Amino acid sequence: MNKKSDYSTLPSKLRILLIGAHPTDAFDNAGGTLIHHIDRGDDVTCVVMTHGVRSHSNVLLDEILTSDVALSEEEIEEKTQFWAREKNREVVDACEIMGIKDLRFLVMEDDIFLITPELVRKLGSLILDLRPDVIITHYPFEGGGIAYAHATTAHATLHAIHYASTARQGDSRKIHRTPQLYYMGIPSAGVALSSIEATFHPKVDFIVDCSDTMDRKVRALDQIRSQRYAGPYARKRIETVDGHFGRLAGMAYAEPFMRHTVQVCHYLPFTVDEQQRGNETQTDRFARMTPMVGQGIPYEETSDVR
Ligand SMILES: [Zn+2]
Repeated sequence: MNKKSDYSTLPSKLRILLIGAHPTDAFDNAGGTLIHHIDRGDDVTCVVMTHGVRSHSNVLLDEILTSDVALSEEEIEEKTQFWAREKNREVVDACEIMGIKDLRFLVMEDDIFLITPELVRKLGSLILDLRPDVIITHYPFEGGGIAYAHATTAHATLHAIHYASTARQGDSRKIHRTPQLYYMGIPSAGVALSSIEATFHPKVDFIVDCSDTMDRKVRALDQIRSQRYAGPYARKRIETVDGHFGRLAGMAYAEPFMRHTVQVCHYLPFTVDEQQRGNETQTDRFARMTPMVGQGIPYEETSDVR
């Protein structure tokens, strides 16, 4: 007779590993959800795959585009290294606001970012060290799944999860099977970033109510000055992405996810919140959906970014 199955909702402590392509992905897509788990006492580690400067330093990209005299290779490298250090500092500050303490930078290049055996081993090794219950990464077919760092990161993560569960060459560590994988940043239904993405029909299969965390998420995005996220964009981003999913699900702000593996339960998943909504007044419903936190948080321009 097998051990009796336990379908209780959550084990006492979870080990969560988020693997993101760019520095801000660590909190931009799933930061509100991570705050909930950190506050619960779960172990949360965030991996930043690329330094993100070659594709996301909007200051550097504009400089290369608008400079009257072409920058030399040495100048571009010097500026890339400078902005990589700046971006690193910004992300550490942002993650501190979010309460994310364990942040790992793999410092991959982001001009050409491909899956290699070395990358899979590096990620797999991290999985073997941390032995996570849950991994969160991007949707593998975001943007169509081709030549897009988010999708490449998701594919590398899937390879690494497989690698960690095999009898590996030259590695005697105990195998680790990751029990559940969640995809973050799921595109909104009906709008695809490319026609290839549209063929994969991404679906949001559950939503985390993050209304209580959005003030921290706005202040975290305010740290990302080199990417022009700070200030008005941070507020626009929160209202149009987290606010969009919140409104769809009847709350102020939310983060969407998609499970890789179907969830197994003993009972139908059903929450007290769902039950309470059955008796809610329309006044209460709109009061829950309507708050807009962004514009209430002051932002002061600094001269940090030229
Ligand atoms: Zn990204």
